[in-house]
Amino acid sequence: MALLGTKSFQNYIGGEWVDAASGETFESVNPANGDTIGIFPRSSSQDVDRAVAAAKAAYEEWRLVPAPKRGELLFRFAQLLADAKDELTELMSREMGKVLAEAGGDVQEAIDMSFYMAGEGRRLVGHTTPSELRDKFNMSVRMPIGVIGVITPWNFPIAIPSWKIAPALICGNTIVFKPATDTPRLGERFVELLDEAGVPKGVVNVVHGGGGEVGDALVRHPDVPVITLTGSRETGVEVMKRAAENLKHIHLELGGKNAIIVMDDADLDLAVEGIVWSAFGTSGQRCTAASRVIVHERLYDALASRVVAAAEGLRLGAGWEEDTDVGPLINRRAVEKVHSYTEIGRDEGAELLTGGETPTGNAFDRGAFYRPTVFGRVEPGMRIAQEEIFGPTTALIPVAGFEEAVRAANGVKYGLSSSIYTRDVNGAFRAMRDLDTGITYINAGTIGAEVHLPFGGTKDTGNGHREAGQAALDVFTEWKSIYVDYSGKLQKAQIDTAE
Ligand code: NAD
Repeated sequence: MALLGTKSFQNYIGGEWVDAASGETFESVNPANGDTIGIFPRSSSQDVDRAVAAAKAAYEEWRLVPAPKRGELLFRFAQLLADAKDELTELMSREMGKVLAEAGGDVQEAIDMSFYMAGEGRRLVGHTTPSELRDKFNMSVRMPIGVIGVITPWNFPIAIPSWKIAPALICGNTIVFKPATDTPRLGERFVELLDEAGVPKGVVNVVHGGGGEVGDALVRHPDVPVITLTGSRETGVEVMKRAAENLKHIHLELGGKNAIIVMDDADLDLAVEGIVWSAFGTSGQRCTAASRVIVHERLYDALASRVVAAAEGLRLGAGWEEDTDVGPLINRRAVEKVHSYTEIGRDEGAELLTGGETPTGNAFDRGAFYRPTVFGRVEPGMRIAQEEIFGPTTALIPVAGFEEAVRAANGVKYGLSSSIYTRDVNGAFRAMRDLDTGITYINAGTIGAEVHLPFGGTKDTGNGHREAGQAALDVFTEWKSIYVDYSGKLQKAQIDTAE
């Protein structure tokens, strides 16, 4: 039930703000103190049907708008995002829990992506290539596909929608966007700004609600040929199964179990800084978070004591308070999940070096906080070293040398990000070659991507696609090969041979 004074929000369908057909709602809650952020429509397949119909109708005109003109709208959107950066940053720290610096980074990523994809409006290059026959011209061009179902998680509530919506739009597609139920207000602001930028009615629609209802209805809808989803591995598997019947294009960006390798010749201070930032930034709730640190035995004790001291020095608190280093987790369920892994780690025989509990005190009572947690002497096969915890927990794994380190790093089902700290240039290049991940950092932690490079992972982190960079365009376009025969006669490829 709506609290007095709490603002209610709506879906955005065909250029109009509307309630869910059922009239049902859900609440978005501040994870630091339990305050209500807003009330949102709990939509169903009926609302999805309306939004898809609006997006399908808008597609017929939008696909014909010249790509440079679509780029101008995205350019304007990027400017509006930049103007609203402070407001969105503050809102993100309240709705999702991130500290201000990181929330600002999240918004900046969307600004960068929108400018980058706006520029793509004047490229979207295809290929020309010679023909094997005389008087014939060959080329291949990118074509838009249609209505794109965009399903996003809560951990990058402005950046991730931009990674999907900006390239999808520049390529000439229309959108039905389902933001995560933990961050609907940010999803809604994203769409308001697109509207303000002048994106035509029906081109971008937002339908709020749960994955099992709105998400599933999008995945099953016959008029949505592409689903782009960032979320957990379990959700990805479910979505692929359900979309199989319609042979949809499914683009999945899923979980990670990312490792930082620290060799015995590493700059220890630099490595510790990178580990703390990568393990505890965003309270460990990044797909690229370093939840494993694979460290050379010779450096193990020195590194463990420094990482523990640094973790214990981090200040927990509300994201919007300037002196907070680590904000809350997204909700209480997440705290329970993270704590269950503390118990699993203990039962498996790993050494709990610090953390492993919720903080006590008035400042934390109403929030979803968990102390930065470090496990020592972890074996690579333990569950805490294999499964995605998605919280501020990292596992220190001692190894005897480079080969063992790479084996441990690769010995998980995920393949998103990896990193190595070493001063040995040969070792660094071997790591670039041998670490089986979509992203590898040398002498830096596992987090922090730039928008003009492909982003995504190998193995169970996805299904072979990439977000960002030029690679993103492949998700949102089909290739068409075009043959123009200007010989004025019937020429048969592979049968007539040109001289
Ligand atoms: P989640 O899988 O629970 O939810 C992601 C989105 O999918 C949400 O919008 C949710 O409502 C929707 N959803 C859930 N079930 C669905 C279904 N059956 N059909 C359609 N949609 C459904 O994930 P989350 O908790 O929001 O996010 C955390 C996960 O996301 C972690 O595993 C993290 O690693 C991953 N992630 C990956 C990347 C990447 O780029 N690889 C980036 C960020 C987060």
